[in-house]
Amino acid sequence: MSVAAKDVRPVAVDWACVRKDFPILARKVHGKPLIYLDSANTAQKPRQVIEAVDAFYREHNANVSRAVHQLSEEATALYEGARDKLAVFLGASHRDEIVLTSGTTMATNLVAYSYLLPRLKPGDAVLVTAMEHHADIVPWQLICKLTGAHLKVAPITEAGELIVEKFIEALTPEVKFAGVVHVSNVLGTINPVKELARECRKRGIPLLVDGSQSAPHLPLNVKAIGCDFYVVTGHKMCGPTGTGALWARREILESMPPFFGGGEMIRTVTFDGTTFADSPHKFEAGTPNTAGFAGLGVAIDYLTRIGMENIAAREHALLEYATPRLEAVPGLRIIGRAANKAAVISFLIDGMHAHDLATLLDQEGVAVRSGHHCAHPLMQFYGVTGTCRASLAFYNTEAEIDAFVAALGRVRKLLQ
Ligand code: PMP
Repeated sequence: MSVAAKDVRPVAVDWACVRKDFPILARKVHGKPLIYLDSANTAQKPRQVIEAVDAFYREHNANVSRAVHQLSEEATALYEGARDKLAVFLGASHRDEIVLTSGTTMATNLVAYSYLLPRLKPGDAVLVTAMEHHADIVPWQLICKLTGAHLKVAPITEAGELIVEKFIEALTPEVKFAGVVHVSNVLGTINPVKELARECRKRGIPLLVDGSQSAPHLPLNVKAIGCDFYVVTGHKMCGPTGTGALWARREILESMPPFFGGGEMIRTVTFDGTTFADSPHKFEAGTPNTAGFAGLGVAIDYLTRIGMENIAAREHALLEYATPRLEAVPGLRIIGRAANKAAVISFLIDGMHAHDLATLLDQEGVAVRSGHHCAHPLMQFYGVTGTCRASLAFYNTEAEIDAFVAALGRVRKLLQ
């Protein structure tokens, strides 16, 4: 089955009404209204997704593709339905280009072990950028260690922008693969992945784009980007944890051997050997997170119904609202000043530890993340052990940002 183009017309959205879909946003924390500013860590879930997971267990629970009974057919349809929806959402040419995984980390490891490991030899290199998440560093390091290859790192500016000329310069013949984050989870930087993909393609270097932080916030089309692999994680897209996907063209997936072996991924098994199912099923051994994918399908419908253009515009407006207000807090320094940036604001306040700040903000009902954000090398680049990070989503409000800034003022006084 081929997939149809998605409808991307922007429409007016009633954001207050949208917010009401998220039951958790009505709760209190330490007696204060919850202000959830940690969506880059994991997004909150609308009731439609929660109800879909609930309905799965109440009405459809069965294993996928293993039985002919009605429930198994329903469970399989929900699981395979998520593949269809992801294919449309990501702009894939075909549903078979989508491998369902437990998230970005598993998708990236699948590419590392199945695609890249057999292709690397001593002296080869894998190029990444200085702003990668550990999920786009460690898998390559593991296979470099097995093969005698090494990592190369493309530098960034102090503002947190990739130095594109340096990335291109680094695409030397020993580079056999590149991995780039689309949107940095720490800096919010939106990388020019289309341009990077074009340069990689010119040199025949496969490119993996980590879409963990872009898929929930930007309209996407993997074919227009022109990369070879695109990985996403469902829990940041308002879907359940333990869901995600790898997109790659069919001929690439077909060239890759299975990574995990077990049930569901085979055609025939004897003690002399096994023949495998076609891709993507040959990569999906074992019982999947079926309930999770039932929820992810609904999350994708939900995001699509609001419209990714609308979501991107709303979050940009929130970023523009929050940035000057945070800058006005005495001693506050924003880390990540890229011109093209998603609604992620990492910051430090002079003389205050990020964890202390986050702990006191939590007492005020404000949930921010503090620490290294799974990006140790980036912390080393900025010479800090960690930052506080407020990450916004379309369900946040200007009033929440005001309350956050007011809470920061109170916390500053306590820590001074
Ligand atoms: N890459 C980036 C940029 C991320 O922000 C994250 C999650 N913090 C990941 C990869 C890993 O995602 P997951 O843990 O869902 O596999």
